[in-house]
Amino acid sequence: KRKIAVMTSGGDSPGMSGAVRAVVRSAIAMGHEAYCIYEGYEGLVQGGDLIKKMDWEDVRGWLSEGGTLIGTARCAAFRERPGRLAAARNLIVNGINGLIVCGGDGSLTGADLFRSEWPGLLEELVEREELTKEQIEPFQTLNIAGLVGSIDNDMSCTDATIGAYSSLARICQAVDYIDATAASHQRAFVIEVMGRHCGWLAVMSGVSTGADYIFIPEKPPGEGWEKQMCDIIARHRKLGKRKTIVIVAEGAIDRDLKPITSEYVKKVLVDELKLDTRVTCLGHVQRGGTAVAYDRMLATLQGVEAVRAIVNAKTGRPSPMIAITENKITRKPLVEAVRMTKGVAEAIKNKDFDQAMKLRDAEFDE
Ligand code: ATP
Repeated sequence: KRKIAVMTSGGDSPGMSGAVRAVVRSAIAMGHEAYCIYEGYEGLVQGGDLIKKMDWEDVRGWLSEGGTLIGTARCAAFRERPGRLAAARNLIVNGINGLIVCGGDGSLTGADLFRSEWPGLLEELVEREELTKEQIEPFQTLNIAGLVGSIDNDMSCTDATIGAYSSLARICQAVDYIDATAASHQRAFVIEVMGRHCGWLAVMSGVSTGADYIFIPEKPPGEGWEKQMCDIIARHRKLGKRKTIVIVAEGAIDRDLKPITSEYVKKVLVDELKLDTRVTCLGHVQRGGTAVAYDRMLATLQGVEAVRAIVNAKTGRPSPMIAITENKITRKPLVEAVRMTKGVAEAIKNKDFDQAMKLRDAEFDE
């Protein structure tokens, strides 16, 4: 019988609670004990009441919920070794040796670092007389598994992150609302969406709403884009379109890495096309609300797979990140997936946009 803990970390996303439910219930169904670590790594570092044993009914009704019902946080202490020592101690005290982390690339990096420092952390705790040799004896390995929870869909090696499709649905709904008022007044709207270094939400919402023009970080427009955008929009208007929708990802940049702001796009539309233009920044509405069916399904199937990965873990194998590849739940090496994801941001910073796109689409080949 193993004790398996689950936590959510980094930015919240719809479906995280569904993933927690799936982990708790599948752990119990497989004959193990399930624990939740509240408030992300903060709970791991602080321990006490923030680490709770969960029963089947404790997660009842969690499948559809937005956000995360066990809380999330950014935790500076876990980035430092003393924080991770405290975290290791709290796991041992609770008898936990399997940890499932649902979060973004930062959270998964932290999880793998923690695992790689094991059992050194335990030996140090014995030296400091915080734990005894007998206490650490049964905990020589820590198994971890990563679930990717993020609305941005910014992780390499997986087709979808938990929460991305809920956010996409919410954005589309908001653009549909805006469409009606835009068409009534023949207005233009510049709509800013989330995604940081990732243009997935912008591209997919643009495709799904028939936007006139889209700005994303991985593929900045070339010089003279203002004229190209205006020509396209003018053509659409000539064809009888009564509204204009431009979607700007929050991380949109030009080829010199200068941010392309919604306000600047608005100014171009007003100055060049004399369009009555408004800016709508969708903000945190994109993260709220219940999880769409796809995210409930993804969270459930991946949560079960994460527990299986912990239970069947073999020593010496790299920690897995639970992914979805062409509609199949898969396991990918967590470190490689995180490395490729960080590579995208790095490539953008180096103005190597082809490489950014390549890494974004890349699959790790085992
Ligand atoms: P999102 O994509 O929503 O921002 P994220 O998981 O990438 O999610 P971060 O803020 O980068 O969010 O990381 C969440 C937490 O994970 C941090 O507050 C920190 O506690 C831990 N963490 C991140 N990077 C590291 C690291 N290199 N070493 C140890 N811990 C880390």
